[in-house]
Amino acid sequence: MHFKLTEEIIKLSNSQFWDKAKLEWCFEYAYYSEENETCLCGHSPIRNICVIKNTENENITEVGNCCINKFLGIKDANKIFTSIKKLKENISNSMSKEALVYLKSNNQLNSFEYSFYHSIIRKKILSDKQQDIKLKINRKFIDFTSYESNSIFRKINIVLKWAENNPWFNTDFVISLKTSCERTGKLTEKQKTALENIMSKMKIN
Ligand SMILES: [Zn+2]
Repeated sequence: MHFKLTEEIIKLSNSQFWDKAKLEWCFEYAYYSEENETCLCGHSPIRNICVIKNTENENITEVGNCCINKFLGIKDANKIFTSIKKLKENISNSMSKEALVYLKSNNQLNSFEYSFYHSIIRKKILSDKQQDIKLKINRKFIDFTSYESNSIFRKINIVLKWAENNPWFNTDFVISLKTSCERTGKLTEKQKTALENIMSKMKIN
């Protein structure tokens, strides 16, 4: 299984040597998939998916958490998966500090929300008002790590990648979709349809 992963990663990397190639990759997003997916190593089914990005050529791919620590040495993702599981079990649980930082660094939280959560992360008893804010932030995390928002990111990235080879295509609209999805974790039905239309019209898949 390991060989299949290294082979697939090398195909998408600049270096042809695994030891160098694996260093080109960094963690981009983590999400929980509602559908069974297959890791690049061939392992299936996987539900905890990491989107990783090659920092040299901007290639994007997905691997399961089976491979992310072991072979790529990317550790950030596991604590995020733990928090997804915890909050899915009970939405009033607390996410980890790492998950909070992840949400903040992806522009999902303003500074008030971030420092508020930080201050209550270990508290068991909250006022109603505090509990409301906490739940709101927890839902943002679940939305942002959902299959839906990540399948949108995936599609947007595919279009942007395609556009690199088709410079006549104006990417302003697609970039605006990306910004809007980064802000809210989702797209409106209208925006989704527009994205689908671009992909089918340009025959991008
Ligand atoms: Zn794997």
